[in-house]
Amino acid sequence: ATKTEKHSFQAEVGRLLDIVANALYSEREIFLRELISNAADACDRLRYQALTEPALLDGGAEFQIDLSFDEDAKTLTISDNGSGMTKEELVGNLGTIARSGTSNFVSQLSGDEKKDVSLIGQFGVGFYAAFMVADKVDVISRRAGEDTAWQWISDGKGDFTVEPASRDARGTTITLHMKEDAAEFLSEPRIANIVKTYSDHIPFPIKIAGEGEDYPKQLNAAAALWTRNKSEIDEQQYKEFYHHVSHSFDDPWATLHFRAEGVIEYAGLIYIPTMRPFDLFHPDRKSKLKLYVKRVFITDECEDLVPSWLRFLRGVIDSQDLPLNVSREMLQNNPVVAKIRSGLVKRVVGELSKKAEKEADTYTTFWDAFGPVLKEGVYESPEHRDELMKLMRFKSTSREGWVSLADYVADMKEGQEAIYYISGDDQDTLSRSPQLEGFAAKGIEVLYMTDPVDEFWIPSVGEFDGKALKSVTRGGADLSKIKGAEKEDEKKDDDSADDKAATETVDALVTALREALGDSVKDVRKSDRLTSSPCCLVADDGEMDMHLERLLKQHKQ
Ligand code: ADP
Ligand code: MG
Repeated sequence: ATKTEKHSFQAEVGRLLDIVANALYSEREIFLRELISNAADACDRLRYQALTEPALLDGGAEFQIDLSFDEDAKTLTISDNGSGMTKEELVGNLGTIARSGTSNFVSQLSGDEKKDVSLIGQFGVGFYAAFMVADKVDVISRRAGEDTAWQWISDGKGDFTVEPASRDARGTTITLHMKEDAAEFLSEPRIANIVKTYSDHIPFPIKIAGEGEDYPKQLNAAAALWTRNKSEIDEQQYKEFYHHVSHSFDDPWATLHFRAEGVIEYAGLIYIPTMRPFDLFHPDRKSKLKLYVKRVFITDECEDLVPSWLRFLRGVIDSQDLPLNVSREMLQNNPVVAKIRSGLVKRVVGELSKKAEKEADTYTTFWDAFGPVLKEGVYESPEHRDELMKLMRFKSTSREGWVSLADYVADMKEGQEAIYYISGDDQDTLSRSPQLEGFAAKGIEVLYMTDPVDEFWIPSVGEFDGKALKSVTRGGADLSKIKGAEKEDEKKDDDSADDKAATETVDALVTALREALGDSVKDVRKSDRLTSSPCCLVADDGEMDMHLERLLKQHKQ
């Protein structure tokens, strides 16, 4: 007797499927891209596993992806001879979304169809895209090296079943029972067109079945994109490859395609995304560059390949010098990997510097998304400190847009010797700080430091272009030497009898406050930095910045 097990989708998947299935999504043809992309990943995975366990390839070392359709039965089938899945993998992989940030993402879904569809477009729903066109999906899969196959069936409405099945060889076959309104996809020209558009770069042959001598017919170029000449590749192809390797759905902001030849030889196709991924600051977030050796996928978990302050990079590095049977452990502290890494960092920083200068507008959108990560590089990779500091952009009290440190310095007031900043959680709150009043009165620009990482890189560099970075919440900021923007007649005339009286009263007040506050403050001082607030809190020079102190307290340090 066959045992059919019933499982429920993870709650997030259920919600996602609801939206996917009902959305009038104009680009629903991407379901095929997603399923082909998964098939290709499965081939890559098995090819890697077979490096150490060649028996897994019994039954054929050539990988391919087969498509077929049946107009009468209204089915479309995608089949691959990649890794396949065990029963547990079927249940886990096709019932949940393991990607970090998922629940965060799902919680952003509003129920408003238009908004949600565009969000999904950015997040990507992978396998579940099948339910945009199908009202029932069957998956039969057999893991390489195992004898049994399993069938997964679902109508995408909350649950799915799993039962034993049969399959001649390893791999996965996905059969889509197409919805009435999705019959358009049961056509060879349409399928061929979709494959050409989205999956041409997939490095395995994608073939379509049919009757006659021409079949099966190969639909894609099946050459790894990074091995091809730049001149043969158009923007659309670069973009689709980005979607495939990154598993993200924004467009790349920058594309670096290069070949390094010399002491070591490698090719790279590296992307800088446009959108900040949901998990950029997640502590477990690892860099995700894919490492290939002579076109064989090895791993996307080689942490030494790229410093963590470039963890937003996506794409492929293909080395000629590493041995094919390199294990993931051998990649640690590997000199070839270290050389690739330093070459890659140079290239990326160079590209960013170029863009910062030539495309200042789009550069600030890049900075907005990834600047806080890049700032980590200032203390983690001192050899790139100077270049990275030039790449930094800040919001400030004096401007609408972003300002670089160089521009700040160029606009400093006569007599101003330091670069002033104020740090805290958000710009809005900071902009109302009484500590800023004296600076505002003199028209002195103050930079807002609102990223937690600011508390680490600032003390580690201390200065830019010979100008110290100074927090306005420190006690010592002496503004009297700086020629401000205030008008002559507003300047204080110290000789006036009125002022003398005022000074005496203030001195008396300070003494009284010192007595009243006792040990709860270190000192009470008269200040020239306030213009409308009666008082403010400051930290002593040489002591911890107030915001840092608060951050550390929060973390009980
Ligand atoms: P992603 O590709 O981003 O991981 P998907 O939703 O597209 O997310 O796929 C979920 C998971 O299901 C994949 O990570 C993979 O483990 C598994 N999977 C999907 N299709 C296949 C397939 N054809 N062969 C083997 N595993 C697959
Ligand atoms: Mg996928």
